[in-house]
Amino acid sequence: MARWTNWAGDQGCDPAYIERPGTLDALQKTIARLVERGHRVRASASGHSFTDCALTEGVMIRLDSLTRKLDFDRSSGLFKVEAGAVLHDLNRMLDAEGVAFENLGDIDRQTIAGSISTGTHGTGERFQNVSAQVEALELIAPDGSLVTIDDSEPDLLRAARVAVGSLGVVYSVTMRTVPAYTINRVDSPKPLREVLGSLDELNAGTDHFEFYVFPGTDVALCRESERTQEPPAPKHPAVVYGQEVMLENWVGKAFSAAVRARPELAPRLAELASKGIGRATKVDSSYKVFASERHIKFTEMEYAVPRERGRELIEGVLDIASRPELHVAWPIEVRFVAGDDSLLSPSHEQDTCYVAVHQDRKLAWEPYFRRVEAHARSLGGRPHWGKRHFRTAADLAPAYPRWDAFQAARARLDPEGVFTNAYSDRVLGPAT
Ligand SMILES: Cc1cc2nc3c(=O)[nH]c(=O)nc-3n(C[C@H](O)[C@H](O)[C@H](O)COP(=O)(O)OP(=O)(O)OC[C@H]3O[C@@H](n4cnc5c(N)ncnc54)[C@H](O)[C@@H]3O)c2cc1C
Repeated sequence: MARWTNWAGDQGCDPAYIERPGTLDALQKTIARLVERGHRVRASASGHSFTDCALTEGVMIRLDSLTRKLDFDRSSGLFKVEAGAVLHDLNRMLDAEGVAFENLGDIDRQTIAGSISTGTHGTGERFQNVSAQVEALELIAPDGSLVTIDDSEPDLLRAARVAVGSLGVVYSVTMRTVPAYTINRVDSPKPLREVLGSLDELNAGTDHFEFYVFPGTDVALCRESERTQEPPAPKHPAVVYGQEVMLENWVGKAFSAAVRARPELAPRLAELASKGIGRATKVDSSYKVFASERHIKFTEMEYAVPRERGRELIEGVLDIASRPELHVAWPIEVRFVAGDDSLLSPSHEQDTCYVAVHQDRKLAWEPYFRRVEAHARSLGGRPHWGKRHFRTAADLAPAYPRWDAFQAARARLDPEGVFTNAYSDRVLGPAT
C-alpha cells in the first residue's frame, strides 16, 4: 500500500495500489483489467485540491508519464495534449508555438486534467475559467475504450469539461489558444471603501482585476493586469526572488508561525501585513505573470456568487473574518470571472464574483469556513469543487439548473459507478 496526500498535507488516502501507465494503450488495458476485477478507479493529479476529490481506497491512476504534446493546428490555434501535462510545462509548450492560454489561475503546478475537472479559474470579468477553453476531450471508459467528446454532442462536452473526475479518466485535452501576449501588472493598495464602491469601474478599467483584504483592515491590495503586445521585460531572477518569492513566502511563513503560536494576535498581525505591502509592477509573458510560487501551506474555501451579489458576499465575509475569536490573519481574495456553459461550472450561465478564504491548516478553520459558507449560500453561492466546502448532492442540485443533464452523462459513461469515490458519492450522489 502507498499513502497518497494532497499538496496541503491534510487530505490523504491509502489506495489499494497506484498505477502509472506510460502509453495510451497501457492506460486503456489497465482500466479495463481493473474494472473487470471489480476495482473502483480514480485519477489523481498534482494533488492541489483542498477537498477529498482525488482520494480513493480503490486503485489510483496517475498520468505522470502521459504529458506529451499530441498536435498543434496553427490555423485554428487548437492544441492537443496528454492530460497529465502540468500547466508549468504546458505553458512553455504553448509559448514555443507562439500561443498561450486565454486566462489562468494564480499557480501553474496543477495538471490540465486536474485544473479543468474542478473548474479552476483566474480573474477578469471578460474571461472564462480554464475549462471553457476546452474544445474536445478523450477519456477512457470502464471497458477501456477511448471515447472522443467534442461539439458533435454539445451537452456531453459541457458535462465533461468540469466533471470532478467522475465521467472517466481523461487521456487528452484539445484546447483553444490565443496568440502569445504580455501582461503589464500593477499592484497597489487602495482604500477598501472606494474599491467596494467602484467594482464595476475597476473591472471595466483593466483586463484582469482582483484584490486581497486582510480582515479588520480598510485597505484593498489591488492587482490590475493589462494585456499588451509590448515585449516582455522580465526582472532579474534575483530581484523576482527577493520581491516576490521571499516576501510572499518566507516572510509570510514567519508571519504564519507567529499567528499559530499566538492566535489572539491575528488582528494586529493582519494590520501590520496589510501596511507592509506597497506598489509593485511586473511586465512579462502572460503565463509568467499569472503564476506565482506558493510555499506556505494553508487550507482554503472559495465561493462563487452572481456578479451582482459580489459586494454583499465580500462585506459579509470580511465581517465574519474580522471576528477576533476566529483568529483569521490570512487575507481574503476577490476575483471576477465571466459565465460559461459547463454544466457543473460554478460560473454556469452567470458572470461571477469569487471570494476565497484561507486559514492556517493547523488552526481551527472549520468554524470560519462554515460561517462563510452559510453567508455565501444565502446569496446563491456555489463552491469551488477543489476547495473545502460542506455541501452535499441534495443541496447542490438546486444550485445547478442543468444538474440532471450532468447526471444523464454520468449514467451513460459510468453506469456502474467505477469512477466514484467518497467525495463524488457525497457531492454528486451515488452513480445510478
Ligand atoms: C496553492 C494553490 C493555488 C491554487 N490556485 C487556484 C486558482 O488560482 N484558481 C482556482 O480556481 N483554483 C486554484 N487552486 C485549486 C486547484 O487549481 C484545483 O484544485 C485543481 O483541481 C488542482 O489540480 P490538480 O492537477 O492538482 O488535480 P487534483 O487535485 O489531483 O485532482 C482534482 C480532480 O481532478 C480529477 N482528475 C485529475 N486527473 C484526472 C484525469 N486524468 N481524468 C479524470 N479526472 C482527473 C481528480 O479525480 C479530482 O477529482 C489552487 C490550489 C492550490 C493548492
